[in-house]
Amino acid sequence: MQERYATILEDAGLDPSTPFDGATDGEQWYASGDELEVTTPIDGDTIGTVRQATAEDYERTVQRAQDVFEEWASAPAPERGEVVRDLGEALRDNKAELGRLITLEMGKIVEEGEGEVQEAIDIADFAVGLSRQLYGKTMATERPDHRMYEQWKPLGPIGIITAFNFPCAVWSWNSCIAAVCGDTMIWKPSSATPLTAIAVSKLANEVFTDHGYPGVMNLTIGPGSTVGEKIANDRRLPLVSATGSTEMGYHVGETVASRMGSSILELGGNNGVIVTDSADLDLAERAITFGAVGTAGQRCTSIRRVFAHEDVADDLVERLVSTYEQVDIGDPLDEDTLMGPLIDEDPVDSMMEAITHLEKQGGEVLTGGERLPELGPNYCQPTIAEVEHDVPIVKEETFAPLLYVIRYEDLEEAIEWHNDVPQGLSSAIFTENVKEAERFLGPHGSDCGIANVNIGTSGAEIGGAFGGEKDTGGGREAGSDSWKQYMCRQTVTINYSDEMPLSQGIDFSVE
Ligand code: NAD
Repeated sequence: MQERYATILEDAGLDPSTPFDGATDGEQWYASGDELEVTTPIDGDTIGTVRQATAEDYERTVQRAQDVFEEWASAPAPERGEVVRDLGEALRDNKAELGRLITLEMGKIVEEGEGEVQEAIDIADFAVGLSRQLYGKTMATERPDHRMYEQWKPLGPIGIITAFNFPCAVWSWNSCIAAVCGDTMIWKPSSATPLTAIAVSKLANEVFTDHGYPGVMNLTIGPGSTVGEKIANDRRLPLVSATGSTEMGYHVGETVASRMGSSILELGGNNGVIVTDSADLDLAERAITFGAVGTAGQRCTSIRRVFAHEDVADDLVERLVSTYEQVDIGDPLDEDTLMGPLIDEDPVDSMMEAITHLEKQGGEVLTGGERLPELGPNYCQPTIAEVEHDVPIVKEETFAPLLYVIRYEDLEEAIEWHNDVPQGLSSAIFTENVKEAERFLGPHGSDCGIANVNIGTSGAEIGGAFGGEKDTGGGREAGSDSWKQYMCRQTVTINYSDEMPLSQGIDFSVE
């Protein structure tokens, strides 16, 4: 392993000289199964070996999460918030180190790696405030001298399954909120990014142990086909939050529903931006470049489709092509780099296949379209292709920096084409015209969970509920009232009269 990689691991609290196999006493996580080799997408170098969970390890993990739940759920929510506050502080203290680890393991540039840790810090702050705001409503009752209200109770141990592309942030959205809600949890990260999971879990475990609550945030590492399946099928986990591909979500969603569990599904996107003839093209160009090229097109919210009004399409395309051709591609640890590698060679292959498809269907590559073998098998050029709106490949999420430009004449048709895909995560319009903006936001406008005006589709703040409709799964995480999914709603009615009136005025007295 390169020395600089070993330094990144050490700085993030991982000892690169030994395999990452949990702690023998189960302090960190239980792992006695097969080894998993972890490589960096930067150059394919092996950066660690992780021991995975066996069925027995999984059982012990769930047992611990169940045992700890009793005590954790009984702690006052503001006390739980205090623990999450310290977790946020620990993340703050280690932001740069964790950010570089994310870069090493996942391949996003350092700026974005650190941004992801900042997102975890932000959600921790949000959760601390929330710990004093888990409000229930009081309702007017129809019966005299009665009181009716609803209260929110912790749900139990929950399962969290995450994707490779946000190895820290998505865990934090779920775990910080679930923790203040009084849940314990079992997290299964992507097998492509277990080291980030280990590093942040170590921090979390230290914080929770210091407060006398070890085992609130548990880690279990292993393939989706074994450990992931166990989580989906486990009746002891009333909620499973699963982030990843739509294919995975269909399967996990059906499995959890078949045992009457709840799921939060955060799945694939196919995010579109409409650029109208009144748009500020400077803003649009900057937002589209970040949205389509950032994280090498591997965000669920990455911009994949641009609908450009025919009067501005040439100008916009010219600006985008010029910017794309100046993007520095290379080692994501280098601070000049704007686009690093993809997670491995598969998405590069998928992108090349998508380009072949679109060319056969009459599309044309305007810039990019090539692999970059001189940098390594995981690198490619960010690509723009012009296509017709009904080219079949446009309806698929190709998880790579491939942007489709589609010309339109009329806003109504642009909105119709925009919505004519299976996914419904994030969307945007660039316009200076308030009527166009409101049309896009109105009931017959964007059908996505997120809709922006003069902002790209990616880079959401944690304060809003995050998620999407249709094949994106319908889940909502992070801000607003997403916390309600991590708790059990209980309606309570108290009779403080000497009578027994029945609701709906029913008289059931025995004379
Ligand atoms: P993936 O579906 O391959 O894997 C995601 C997770 O699911 C992994 O932890 C994997 O091990 C697990 N998994 C796979 N099969 C499983 C099974 N049968 N049972 C239980 N778990 C199983 O996705 P990926 O390649 O890691 O991530 C990319 C995808 O994630 C893209 O489609 C992207 O859009 C999506 N994503 C969505 C969001 C969102 O919030 N909507 C956020 C990030 C990523």
